[in-house]
Amino acid sequence: MVYEAIIIGGGPAGLSAALNFGRGMRHTLVIDDHNPRNQVTDESHGYLTQDSISPSLFRQRAANDVKKYDAVEQIHDRVIDIMKQDQLFYVTTQNSSYTAQQVLIATGLRESLPTIDNIENFYGKSVFYCPWCDGYEMRNKTLAIINPTQAIMHLAKIVTNFAKEIILFTDGTDILDQADKQLLKKKQISIYYQKVLGMKGQHGEVTALQLDNGIEIPIEGAFTYVHWDTDFGFLQSLQVEREESGKLKVDSLGQTNIPGLFVAGESKENFAGQLIDAAANGGMTAKMMMMQQFEKEFTSD
Ligand SMILES: Cc1cc2nc3c(=O)[nH]c(=O)nc-3n(C[C@H](O)[C@H](O)[C@H](O)COP(=O)(O)OP(=O)(O)OC[C@H]3O[C@@H](n4cnc5c(N)ncnc54)[C@H](O)[C@@H]3O)c2cc1C
Repeated sequence: MVYEAIIIGGGPAGLSAALNFGRGMRHTLVIDDHNPRNQVTDESHGYLTQDSISPSLFRQRAANDVKKYDAVEQIHDRVIDIMKQDQLFYVTTQNSSYTAQQVLIATGLRESLPTIDNIENFYGKSVFYCPWCDGYEMRNKTLAIINPTQAIMHLAKIVTNFAKEIILFTDGTDILDQADKQLLKKKQISIYYQKVLGMKGQHGEVTALQLDNGIEIPIEGAFTYVHWDTDFGFLQSLQVEREESGKLKVDSLGQTNIPGLFVAGESKENFAGQLIDAAANGGMTAKMMMMQQFEKEFTSD
């Protein structure tokens, strides 16, 4: 069987695309390995009608919406390779292989945490990276901002809106310029330039940061930097063009230089956004993909 589209990734981008493909009655396969990066947290915020929902319930509801449409199949598997021959894509997974006219990559981001002892016990519970997602829940607390880049000033401006007090940790760098240092001094915001070695606390609630000079600084929560990239190992057989940043080069429809190969959601941006952005982009990209199919079908003999 040749699917009209294969979607790799069953997060909000992939499932929103799948919903649209289902409603367009296109034979579609969603392949997802059930490993989203937001599985570490208990609540997702800011998605209209779904505010504070657990990430797993959000995905279950999204998958149920898609199940209503017979044209779409959803399977649990991991894509490891894609080849293209004679206008068709051959998608290999760990367990099988599938053929499609088009492929949508909606695989999100690969995330890794900074090397701070015990951070994994608190990340997603009282330590986050996105104040737009979790700032409200962390309101009126003493919050650490841990970031070794100039983005620390940008975060300071946002997190100040929510916090009782902010404390900056540059994690071993001296990244701030004189003007920033003076501004922070004027606002009586403390800065620590030491490396952050560890986090202390219990039951997911962080209570202190341990610095490499032996000092412990009490806090009630933190916004930390994390590392992101895209895990596109499965594209090794295709000559997909990338920008210098590593982002896939795409046209205004989300199509790569390989005709029929599209990308949506965070894997398109190569940067973190929010559920609602990923879902909106997945839905729009599916419509662009279907339009390409309709054009071809309508104009062929
Ligand atoms: C701690 C934390 C808190 C967050 N809080 C919020 C919040 O409150 N509000 C909000 O809007 N957003 C929040 N986010 C961000 C949100 O999770 C992302 O914006 C959103 O999930 C991105 O959607 P996506 O579909 O692009 O990718 P994902 O949701 O990451 O989905 C990608 C899917 O692709 C699958 N996949 C990857 N590679 C393969 C492969 N080779 N084969 C098969 N499947 C594959 C993965 O398993 C995953 O299921 C948070 C994120 C984190 C980490």
